Amino acid sequence: MSTLLTILKQAEQFLKQKGITNALFNAEVLFSCALGCDRIDLYLRHNSALKEEQLKVIRALLTRRAHREPLQYIVGEWPFYELILSLDHRVLIPRPETEFMVEWAIKYFREKRFYNPQVLDLGTGSGAIALSIAKEFPRSKVIAADKSPDALQLASENAKRNKLRNITFVQSTWYSSINGTFDLIISNPPYLSENEWQNVEPEIKNFEPKIALVADNEGIADLTEIIKGAPKFLKPDGILLLETGQSQHDNLLKFANENFDVSKSQKDQFGKDRFLIFQQPISDL
Ligand code: GLN
Repeated sequence: MSTLLTILKQAEQFLKQKGITNALFNAEVLFSCALGCDRIDLYLRHNSALKEEQLKVIRALLTRRAHREPLQYIVGEWPFYELILSLDHRVLIPRPETEFMVEWAIKYFREKRFYNPQVLDLGTGSGAIALSIAKEFPRSKVIAADKSPDALQLASENAKRNKLRNITFVQSTWYSSINGTFDLIISNPPYLSENEWQNVEPEIKNFEPKIALVADNEGIADLTEIIKGAPKFLKPDGILLLETGQSQHDNLLKFANENFDVSKSQKDQFGKDRFLIFQQPISDL
């Protein structure tokens, strides 16, 4: 009799052959999804047999993964910071670097003991950034903007799912429909060049929305637009925090320096230049 463990091991081999890294982890996640249990339960039940119906579901999920569909889209949800987010092809899968940026922003306001900031998240996608900040600071007011109605639909489902009410969703192409001023403007805009996109993994290239990944002008067109527009939408002392590609900082800092009090580059958890921080002058004196 084939036990759960032997089938899991076969699935691992199958995924490995298909070029999936972390094949065992992938298999475990797909099995838990198919069987409706936690990963640890797979090992507690390792000797049990599987029904034909369960095997059918597992096979279907493994086939999707073998075609390089991202695990997060197959499972349909994934943790981000302190939330579980529904995810599908309408939005980019939030990355650990973005989580790191969210932590930075939260720490920044905590250290200032500023618990009710007005926040604008541009290109919210799944809502990962906006929702995490809204959850951490229940008295904050967060505007989550995106030009894609599909993304906004999913982001607002995620707000509901996480019982967050201090967020407003706005359909806007960057600042086009934004009113008011903010203590924080935060964004993970598209920043890959067309050429970089050509060379990404099939999971990204064939499944994630290109519109959320690629920007004109070697990947800096959207970043440039966001930086240029920011002074009008930042409160005095307010900050703009951006996720970027790793070789874009020299270019972007050059033209930003004159508009802001502070313009600086910040590394991600992997030691790569990944974030830019700009601060609006306190007053015009
Ligand atoms: N970090 C993403 C990647 O490498 C790109 C995200 C983005 O363009 N905002 O695929």
